[in-house]
Amino acid sequence: MPLLKSWVASANDATHPFPLNNLPYGVFAHGDEEPRCGVAIGDMILDVTAAEAEGLITLIEEPLFDLPFWNPLMEQGPAVWAALRARLTALLSEGAMEQEVVEPLLVPQSAVVMHMPFAVSEYTDFYAGRHHAFNVGSMFRDPENALPPNWLHIPIGYNGRASSVVVSGTDIRRPWGQLKSPDHDLPTFLPSRRFDIELEMGAIVGTPSNGPLSVQEADDHIFGYVLLNDWSARDIQAWEYQPLGPFQAKATATSISPWIVTKPALEPFRCDTPEREFELLDHLKDCGPMLYDIDLAITMAPAGQKATTVARTNYKEMYYSAAQQLAHHSTSGCPMNTGDLLGSGTISGPTKPERGSLLELSWGGKEPLTLDTGETRSFIEDGDTLTLTGAARGNGYTIGFGDCTGTVLPALKDPYKR
Ligand code: MN
Repeated sequence: MPLLKSWVASANDATHPFPLNNLPYGVFAHGDEEPRCGVAIGDMILDVTAAEAEGLITLIEEPLFDLPFWNPLMEQGPAVWAALRARLTALLSEGAMEQEVVEPLLVPQSAVVMHMPFAVSEYTDFYAGRHHAFNVGSMFRDPENALPPNWLHIPIGYNGRASSVVVSGTDIRRPWGQLKSPDHDLPTFLPSRRFDIELEMGAIVGTPSNGPLSVQEADDHIFGYVLLNDWSARDIQAWEYQPLGPFQAKATATSISPWIVTKPALEPFRCDTPEREFELLDHLKDCGPMLYDIDLAITMAPAGQKATTVARTNYKEMYYSAAQQLAHHSTSGCPMNTGDLLGSGTISGPTKPERGSLLELSWGGKEPLTLDTGETRSFIEDGDTLTLTGAARGNGYTIGFGDCTGTVLPALKDPYKR
C-alpha cells in the first residue's frame, strides 16, 4: 500500500510518523482544560470529541467520545472500529468535501499535553522474547539451562499493576526497596542502585471475553499497540523474585507511548513468529502472521545533555505474538476486559547492540556502556532521560508511535518522613 494523501500537508512526508495510513488515537488537553479524544494527522490532532459533537462522526446512537479515554470505542468491537477508521480517512483525505468544516477542529500537537489514551483495566507483563530470556537466564542461572523448562511451551508472565501505568513524559521516581547483596547475610532498605528499563510493546484488549479464546479470536480482540517501558529495579527483583516472580521491582511505574496505533495501520507489516523448537500445543499454534515488523530503539540522555542511541531491535524478534499471549491468558477462563494491557516482554535481538535492557547491554554491570557524551553507564543515574521509539517503514510512508519517554528523579531522601 502506498502513502495515502491528506489535505493536512505535513502528513504527506515519507518519514512523518503520522500519515493518513496511521491515524493513531490519543487523549490531549490544552493547559488545564478537560482532556479530549483526538487522532494524530501529520503535525496536527483532529479533535474527535468536537467532530462527534458537531455531527461529523456518528457511529452508534450514544456518544463515544465524550469521556477522555478511548475505552467506549474499544468495547464496541471490530465493526465499529472499522467504521470510525473509514470515516476519519474520508474526512482527512486529499480532496475531502468536508475539509472546510474539519479544518477548524485541528489542533497543533506542539500546543497540547498528552494524557493516558485509555483507562487501563488490568496489566499483565510477559517474558516472551527469547534472546532476552536467554540472556537473563545465562546471567542469573547458567547458559546451559538459560530458558526455564516451560518457556518454549507457554508465554510466561506475571500480573502487574494497572495503577502503575503512566503516559510518556511522566517523571519516574527512583524507588526504595529491600536489597540483599551477595556479600552480606542480611538485607538492607535503600534506594535501588540498579534501576533499569525494559523495551517492550503493549497490546491493548478491545473486545472483552469470558472464557478460552483461540489464537485467531484473540487477535481479533486486540484493538491496538503502544510502546511500553517496564521500569525495573534489578536489585529489588533479584532478592524478591523467588518463588512468586517480580513484585515491587516492577511496581514503580510502566510508561506507555501516547498514541494507540491500531491493527489496520500495522496490517501491511505483519510477519511470522520464528521457527519453533517444540511444536506448540494446538490451542497456542500459529494460525497466520501475528507479529509485526516494527523497528525499535532506546536512547539515553544524561541530564541536560544529548541523547545516545544505546540499542536498536525489532518487534519481530518475539517468540510469541500478543495474540498467543492473550489466548494463553484466557485458557483458565480468566475474564479479559476492555482496556487490559499486555506487555510483550523485553524485546532483544541476537547481537549485543540489539539488547532491550541495560541489564543485558551492560551484562549485569560488568561491561558498562560508553555514551556519546563520554560518560559511562551500567544502570540509570538520577536525571537520565530514557526514550523508546518505534517505526514501521512502508513503501513511501512511516507508521510511528510517538516517543515513550521518562526522566528518572532522585529517590526521596526519607520515604517514611511524615
Ligand atoms: Mn517486562
